[in-house]
Formats: sequence, structure tokens, C-alpha cells
Amino acid sequence: MPICQKCEHKWTWKESMKSLFRLKCPNCEEKQFQSAKSKKKTSILSIVPISIIFLVNVFSSLSFGSGAILLIVFLGAMFGLYPFLLQLSNEEEFYP
Ligand SMILES: [Zn+2]
Repeated sequence: MPICQKCEHKWTWKESMKSLFRLKCPNCEEKQFQSAKSKKKTSILSIVPISIIFLVNVFSSLSFGSGAILLIVFLGAMFGLYPFLLQLSNEEEFYP
């Protein structure tokens, strides 16, 4: 779970979901940024379900409907896992 770099408040899963896009600490209201290391992790996370769906589509004759359901399930799971991979920093970090 993410920990605020300003006040060291540990964000709960619910708090993380609430501030997923703004990344504002619920305790001290300080703007936080996703660390470069964590960005890398979440970018891998977004590639995995897409490639799984692609492979499933290639190797089985999945109908469009069940493919769409699979995609929604994966997207839901991804959002649910996101707070576990989120790490915070005080400044915007870029990874090479
Ligand atoms: Zn804070």
C-alpha cells in the first residue's frame, strides 16, 4: 500500500482508490506522485491482461461477448491491484 512521503500516513486500499487519479494524501492533503519504480510495475500490470486476452483470442474461438466480459474482469482486477503496486514520492519522477 502507498505511504505518504510527507506525513508517512499509510493509505488504505479505499483511500488509494479514492485518490487514484489525483494522488492527494487523505491525511495531509499534500500532492503526491507515483514513484518511477512503481510506474514501471503498473505499466507491466497493464500489458499482462491485454496480452492474455490477445492470446486467448488467437487460440480459442472466443465470441465477442465473452471476450468483452473477460476484458472487464481483467480491468476490474487491475484496478483492485493498483493500490498494492502504488508507491509515492514527493516529486514527479521519470524512468528512462
Ligand atoms: Zn500525507
